[in-house]
Amino acid sequence: MTTDHISARQVVVRLNDVHKQYGEAKALDGVELEIRAGDAVAVMGPSGCGKSTLLNMVAGLDHPTSGTVQVHGQDLGTLNETGLALFRRRHIGMIFQFFNLLDDLPALDNVALAAQLTGVSAGRARGRALELLGDLGLADRRDAYPAQLSGGERQRVAVARALMNRPALLLADEPTGALDSRSGEQVMDLLNDLHGIGQTLLIVTHDPRLATRCAGRLVELADGRVTGQSTLEPAV
Ligand code: ADP
Ligand code: MG
Repeated sequence: MTTDHISARQVVVRLNDVHKQYGEAKALDGVELEIRAGDAVAVMGPSGCGKSTLLNMVAGLDHPTSGTVQVHGQDLGTLNETGLALFRRRHIGMIFQFFNLLDDLPALDNVALAAQLTGVSAGRARGRALELLGDLGLADRRDAYPAQLSGGERQRVAVARALMNRPALLLADEPTGALDSRSGEQVMDLLNDLHGIGQTLLIVTHDPRLATRCAGRLVELADGRVTGQSTLEPAV
């Protein structure tokens, strides 16, 4: 019964026999992965095992040497760079270890810009950005520039930006990797809350705490191959 319920959920990510070769180096070596709506999946493995490469394939930021990547029903291999950029803006949110905020824009504009790039008016974009910053406890930091924010605040601004266009999929690459433990905890709470409200998540990390706190499924990666998958107990 449970299985029927799970299999009824929409497939958000499907990787079929994905290989990625950088010169002599094999970064991905035949990866199969399926993520359904509402899943929160953590990919774990040692440095250099291909985690970021995998995430970049799903985001369409890089192309497989062979194999196919489907996201939200779209085969990314059929899109050109412009199509990929549009697809990413509409359907994918991303957060990174080092936040990747624009230094010369205040928090509010960093967040609002994500919607403006999809054609939403500045006024509407700012309205939603303010709402999101409020949800993430950052309303009073709206006018602060990234340099004036703590690491944890920067990452929460980055999460707000990633959520602006209500993405089908939120990708996170080592989102706590550059944070002190207290800020890391806040970001883990936030990702856990997002999982709780049904946001589909793919997190890559080498931090087991992040995986167990925020994900329902663990995928182990070693030398570009999936070496294990397991279900994680819900966080208390
Ligand atoms: P992880 O994120 O797990 O640390 P990566 O996906 O960054 O691992 O890297 C996997 C392997 O692919 C490593 O051996 C790395 O050196 C190599 N690699 C990644 N990106 C590139 C690139 N742009 N050019 C050449 N080699 C790369
Ligand atoms: Mg990496």
